Amino acid sequence: MAEDADVIVVGGGLAGLVAATEIADAGKRVIVVDQEGEQSLGGQAFWSFGGLFLVDSPEQRRLGIKDNYDLALQDWLGTAGFDRDDDHWPKRWAEAYVAFAAGEKRDWLRAMGHRIFPVVGWAERGGYDAMGHGNSVPRFHVTWGTGPGIVEPFERRAREAHKSGRLIFKFRHRVDALIIGNGSVEGISGSILEPDNVERGQSSSRKIVGDFTLRAQAVIVASGGIGGNHDLVRQNWPKRLGEPPKNMISGVPEHVDGRMIGITEAAGARLINRDRMWHYVEGIRNWSPIWPRHGIRILPGPSSMWFDATGKRLPAPLFPGSDTLGQLEYIMSTGHDYSWFILTQSIIKKEFALSGSEQNPDLTGKSWRMTIKRATNKGAPAPVEAFKQKGADFIVRDNLADLVSAMNALSGDNLLELDHIKAQIDARDREMSNPYVKDAQVMNIHNARRYVGDRLIRTAKPHRILDVEHGPLIAVKLNILTRKTLGGFETDLDSRVFGTNGQIIRGLYAAGEAAGFGGGGMHGYRSLEGTFRGGCLVSGRNAGRAAAKA
Ligand SMILES: Cc1cc2nc3c(=O)[nH]c(=O)nc-3n(C[C@H](O)[C@H](O)[C@H](O)COP(=O)(O)OP(=O)(O)OC[C@H]3O[C@@H](n4cnc5c(N)ncnc54)[C@H](O)[C@@H]3O)c2cc1C
Repeated sequence: MAEDADVIVVGGGLAGLVAATEIADAGKRVIVVDQEGEQSLGGQAFWSFGGLFLVDSPEQRRLGIKDNYDLALQDWLGTAGFDRDDDHWPKRWAEAYVAFAAGEKRDWLRAMGHRIFPVVGWAERGGYDAMGHGNSVPRFHVTWGTGPGIVEPFERRAREAHKSGRLIFKFRHRVDALIIGNGSVEGISGSILEPDNVERGQSSSRKIVGDFTLRAQAVIVASGGIGGNHDLVRQNWPKRLGEPPKNMISGVPEHVDGRMIGITEAAGARLINRDRMWHYVEGIRNWSPIWPRHGIRILPGPSSMWFDATGKRLPAPLFPGSDTLGQLEYIMSTGHDYSWFILTQSIIKKEFALSGSEQNPDLTGKSWRMTIKRATNKGAPAPVEAFKQKGADFIVRDNLADLVSAMNALSGDNLLELDHIKAQIDARDREMSNPYVKDAQVMNIHNARRYVGDRLIRTAKPHRILDVEHGPLIAVKLNILTRKTLGGFETDLDSRVFGTNGQIIRGLYAAGEAAGFGGGGMHGYRSLEGTFRGGCLVSGRNAGRAAAKA
């Protein structure tokens, strides 16, 4: 039967765009199908904050950060905790990915016009021993232009290929099945959805107006994860993290529906590590939502005090920015699915960043003038101030008694006692005048301020929480926010998918979140952050190059 293209890519997110542009550049014909309209091209990556994991970069060196492949791999393996037979390919991908991040990643992107904000962030700082979870050094490089800044070079290349006839887009084409003949994947079939002019990221109509069949020598599944489908998240929720949360908010658009994962699995592909996921615990309800249950993640600096629903401070080392899954496990063990930050105006001003390209108009708009205000401004960035004033999860009061009573009113659970909270804050505040310090969070704050990047824009000058000079007091109710799927289709280093019989399925490749960012879960259990977009880049690139060659 005649082929419509050499390769079909399912999904026009970052992984799909990277794969498709590599195929077109190799002189082959490629079709990109996506269930969403053209306005959503780029998928989740458009909304991303822009973090990119790089190792031993010029930006790190300029800031005096000493990093190298061995240290980064030690951190990666301590964080991933690979412990299953299924971790063979994930581990090989992890090693390859760290080498990519320490090698050609930056130059490859730079040659396409990608640029990096000069202050490197320090995410997932851990707090266990040197072989445990976390980044030993700052590695979170932010794309100048955030999410749109990483999509732009690949969209440009894709549109050039489109002009030259090597790449065809099929928007509003939703894949319902893979076509298999003689043991090989030979194409896709599915439904054509009615046109819909919703804004990027909004849920679009699912009304079917036709059907389609497309044939090619190979199909690359780059359809994203399951974070927008809370039923699937709950179904796959790992026992080690307790019961699935009753309430969750969504850190991804609704098109991250996981449907294509089921379709690919039904065609015989081997899905591994489906119980590994990366959800955040610092989610706040968006006062101006784009997608259903839209939540935003706070990227916190180290100083906010963190309390569980009963008012007990989270134990060391579960401080802001230390260990996302450790925090999630602890919070779920309390029997409640929310927790609280208590902080001051001085802390929110310097330490709150919101993950999402639309929440960072300075970096997204590539405005130096606006970005410099992060270091010099008297108030918090405008989007943070807007949340403080309009966000349903924010409470601002002049004194602790009023704050705690408003917190009880907001949760409706009445679990917080003023004396209990005040005693813990007073104890922490006493450590402020102690140069030796016993409180591990306060030690972390002092350590953070030894790094010039944190001192400049991420860590407030140490002060007492109850010092009125630094007020007003702020409480933030933190929800669990779904985001990334760490497991996925088992693939070799060419992104070729294994079947349930352990053999490669001819003609089938997987990339991006659908492939657990490579191998079926190159992160293992946890991430060092900024590693997801990079996982899309390398798995999409490998899939595109291998499929074009084959
Ligand atoms: C707000 C936010 C902030 C983030 N910040 C960061 C960050 O700072 N650093 C980082 O590394 N990562 C970050 N991420 C994560 C990262 O952006 C994503 O993991 C990554 O972009 C996923 O890309 P993908 O191509 O695999 O999937 P997606 O972007 O989900 O794209 C998949 C595409 O496939 C389409 N599709 C799905 N099923 C079908 C079907 N059956 N038929 C046709 N089409 C289909 C979808 O419509 C979609 O367009 C962030 C994500 C979000 C949402």
